Amino acid sequence: MGMDKRPGFEVIVIGCGIAGASLAYFLTARGMRDILILEKEDQPGFHATGRSAAALVELDFDPSTLHLKLLGGRFLRNPPQGFSDNPILEKSGILITFKGPLWDQVRGMVPGLERSGVAVNLLSREETLSRVPVLVPDNFDGALLLPEDGHIDVNELLWGYLRQARRLGARLQCGEEVLSVRTHEGRCCGVKTGTGQYRSRWVVNAAGAWAGRIGALACPVPGRIELTPFRRTIITFPAPERLNVGKWPHVGDLSNHLYFSPESSGLFASPMDEDPMEPCDARPDQMVVAQTVERLRRVSPRLVPRAISHRWAGLRTFAPDRIMVVGEDPVLKGFFWLAGQGGAGIETSPAVGRIASDLILDGTTDLIDPRVLSPARFMD
Ligand SMILES: Cc1cc2nc3c(=O)[nH]c(=O)nc-3n(C[C@H](O)[C@H](O)[C@H](O)COP(=O)(O)OP(=O)(O)OC[C@H]3O[C@@H](n4cnc5c(N)ncnc54)[C@H](O)[C@@H]3O)c2cc1C
Repeated sequence: MGMDKRPGFEVIVIGCGIAGASLAYFLTARGMRDILILEKEDQPGFHATGRSAAALVELDFDPSTLHLKLLGGRFLRNPPQGFSDNPILEKSGILITFKGPLWDQVRGMVPGLERSGVAVNLLSREETLSRVPVLVPDNFDGALLLPEDGHIDVNELLWGYLRQARRLGARLQCGEEVLSVRTHEGRCCGVKTGTGQYRSRWVVNAAGAWAGRIGALACPVPGRIELTPFRRTIITFPAPERLNVGKWPHVGDLSNHLYFSPESSGLFASPMDEDPMEPCDARPDQMVVAQTVERLRRVSPRLVPRAISHRWAGLRTFAPDRIMVVGEDPVLKGFFWLAGQGGAGIETSPAVGRIASDLILDGTTDLIDPRVLSPARFMD
């Protein structure tokens, strides 16, 4: 087969974002040593993982994603001893305003959320304004407050996973791009990079926005498992003078497509944009930045900034049904999908990493019905 003399691995993970890192963590925690993570950039977390809004929001209209967030929340609130130097989750709270029929629908979800263990408060319009006084009252009928949710320290989480995985034997190689996936008699058997080839029993596709391309490289049947990256933009700006925003929760307004949140030196906001694009180093678009300011004007005119401090964009990658894709490829044995994390890849990583490691080691998991996430759902 023309393989060179490089060592073989049990698992090669393509991509060192939060998905690849969490998988390496859970595999090594269960005793697997021979793991190689290949990352094309010079550092882990350079793409979606390093650009997120970093929120834990235990609310979702899709029950399986909600389930993964609930499992993730437990870990983020109580990581294993020694996992990180600092707390992973700051319970700064998530407040989401609603209007009209959506408000009725969300109120109907509350008993179910409470039964699942989510702390949730329903706030009247007045109660909402007492927490975030700058909101325009006509925009909402009430709000849902998740007081035990909030801001995730993504860097601490990413490096918590990686430190432990490396201590237990996983190897991380940055600046090495996977160019193709090697197969032999219908099985995946390694990868080829710019500098050589590696053998392995499993190849994990944790390539974020590039996962669709890696999947097509491995098993070129057009349209088999489609993943689309969508750009999302964030701007940061100073808080208005004499306004103490530090204790505000993260605030979302779904009808006006905007969220904003306190951050170290002021506030950040996103217009919740979703522009489909090819995988790339995403950059913010001027029009979208302007739109963010316009939305702020509608939701909270007092927050409209005179100047923007920073702006960035990242890609959120979704399967057509917007449910994550986790499991062995139905055709190419040994090729494992860990993709389509969409807008919830950070908060769900403790659950999804565990599920993926269970599936690789045991072929099954007790955390979820694996068929829900399986790439096999896209066949016929
Ligand atoms: C603006 C924004 C806000 C968000 N807000 C939240 C939030 O509040 N909460 C939340 O949980 N999630 C949020 N997300 C989503 C979250 O960031 C993603 O779901 C998550 O980071 C995806 O992680 P990943 O590891 O799959 O992808 P990535 O972090 O993109 O990692 C994939 C890695 O694979 C590497 N790679 C690709 N191809 C190759 C190759 N051929 N060879 C080697 N390496 C390769 C890439 O360089 C990259 O580092 C947000 C995302 C954005 C953009």
